[in-house]
Amino acid sequence: MKKSLTIRRPDDWHLHLRDGDMLKAVAPHSAEFGRAIIMPNLVPPVVTGEQAGAYRDRIMQALPEGAALRPLMTLYLTEATDPNDVVAAHADGLIAAVKLYPAGATTNSSSGVTDFDKVRPVLEAMADADVPLCVHGEVTDPEVDIFDREAVFIERVLDPVRRATPGLRVVMEHITTEDGVAYVRDNAAGQAMGGTITTHHLVINRNAILAGGIRPHYYCLPVAKREKHRLALRQAAMSGQGPFFLGTDSAPHTDSAKLQPCGCAGCFTAPNTMAILAQIFDDEDRLDRLEAFTSLNGPEFYRMAPNDATVVMRRHDAPISFPDRITVGDETVTVFDPGFDLFWQMEPA
Ligand SMILES: [Zn+2]
Repeated sequence: MKKSLTIRRPDDWHLHLRDGDMLKAVAPHSAEFGRAIIMPNLVPPVVTGEQAGAYRDRIMQALPEGAALRPLMTLYLTEATDPNDVVAAHADGLIAAVKLYPAGATTNSSSGVTDFDKVRPVLEAMADADVPLCVHGEVTDPEVDIFDREAVFIERVLDPVRRATPGLRVVMEHITTEDGVAYVRDNAAGQAMGGTITTHHLVINRNAILAGGIRPHYYCLPVAKREKHRLALRQAAMSGQGPFFLGTDSAPHTDSAKLQPCGCAGCFTAPNTMAILAQIFDDEDRLDRLEAFTSLNGPEFYRMAPNDATVVMRRHDAPISFPDRITVGDETVTVFDPGFDLFWQMEPA
């Protein structure tokens, strides 16, 4: 049995750090990652290069001394986004990508896009300047069943947008279905498409949320789907193949916001993500593919070098422990519970 594994320092290609007290509380839990794509869905959202720069400074202040993490900022695409601002912010190294939320799709997405014709000039400028577009891949049409929203998004939005904007490179974020896996794989030539997969979607299916009592801490968007989809995600993540890489979508909400008649969507996985991933790759005898998923495929898509530094994943003889929750002011945030013992832990090399 393998007891340790040295890999390039991992990156997180989809992370929510929020702002204010929440930012200060959660940022240290991602400090051991090399880079992270930071989601812009604050209130109000991060829509200009200037705002992205100011948010980046707040993140740097919230990180502990010696943190490895370098935040890669994104802009929130709105129907009023200025193509020149996007291209300039990318050229200045201020942003790494632009994020598309269909209006109303998830937490703080009310400024998102309804009319895709209005953002065509931005998307064309991004294609020319090689700025990747990260998409929350769900339609928001109330007629569409929530479990079908990803598959319908591919057909109604993603594929038409890609056809209308040749050269635009797209990350389909937090894929949750075999349809998403297939679309990314079939369109990955020339790094035209990438797909991030979260830690929690590799662990839970929809039963975790709904069977035997409702469990709000497993509710996230896109919502977890049937078991066959979870298995397709596992296969993609463990394939070692280029288009699939880690984006945790670690999305903290206070317990009081989660435990409501209408609770917030999001799983907070930053504290134990690498432990969970090493565990499930080990369980499936695929530890040799962990590094590709967490540390190599993402930078390749974003046309960056892998991190120089390495980390050691070590397997302990007894299960390791994580706090059930962390404190934010006088509130708490519950840490994702995978529901099985974790023996692996990441150590600085
Ligand atoms: Zn997210």
